[in-house]
Amino acid sequence: MADAGGPKRNPTWSRDELILALDLYVRHRDRPPGKTSREIEELSRELNVLGETLGHRHFEKYRNVNGTYMKLMNFRRLDPAYTSGGRVGLTRGGGGEEAVWNEFAADADRLHRVAKAIRENFRAGDVHPELQQLGADDTIEAQEGQLVTRLHRHRERSGKLVQRKKAQFCARHGRLFCEACRFEAEEVYGERSSGVIECHHIQPVHTLRTGLVTRLDDLALICANCHRAVHAQSPWLGMEELRALVFRNE
Ligand SMILES: [Zn+2]
Ligand SMILES: [Zn+2]
Repeated sequence: MADAGGPKRNPTWSRDELILALDLYVRHRDRPPGKTSREIEELSRELNVLGETLGHRHFEKYRNVNGTYMKLMNFRRLDPAYTSGGRVGLTRGGGGEEAVWNEFAADADRLHRVAKAIRENFRAGDVHPELQQLGADDTIEAQEGQLVTRLHRHRERSGKLVQRKKAQFCARHGRLFCEACRFEAEEVYGERSSGVIECHHIQPVHTLRTGLVTRLDDLALICANCHRAVHAQSPWLGMEELRALVFRNE
């Protein structure tokens, strides 16, 4: 057998990458761009920049024109407009395509928005190097992919911003408590735990852009348990959904 699975294999396609590929597919659904087209070449180049931004280890043929074109053809097997004529498309491909297809293919507008958000973030080129390491915690990746997930985590962990948010909240309410479940660390653990609370960025992840300033109103203070619950499912819970969950038995 060849060295399948060996160290020279490129990583499987991430959601971000699949979203960009599906976006191109959907835009040219009737007639997908050919292998030597400008569109495929452009996408291949973008995928290489994205891979670098995310710190993916990659190899010589990483998302080359051929692989990029094949991925578009993989989407065909899921497209009823194509398969209804009895055609089957390329049958091999990862399971990731199907998930991305099911989530985005029927809503081209949302697909474009999300693809645009991903694109603008790595094109900006000033993605914080810390982003390359972030994301190894138990956060479930946002539907919009790794890049915006890391951007979200990066923003809500910005030390200075968190301090300012806590100060503002204290000035308004006189104490810190979870905006979802109302848990107050000081009450339970005593005075020395009074500052124990986390920030959660409440703006939709597809609106995040590198270089955009985070406003204090973009953040909510929530306890670690609530924050974990928000990010432990896909799609992430909104604040209202979180509150509804916490108080469902009342
Ligand atoms: Zn809470
Ligand atoms: Zn969060």
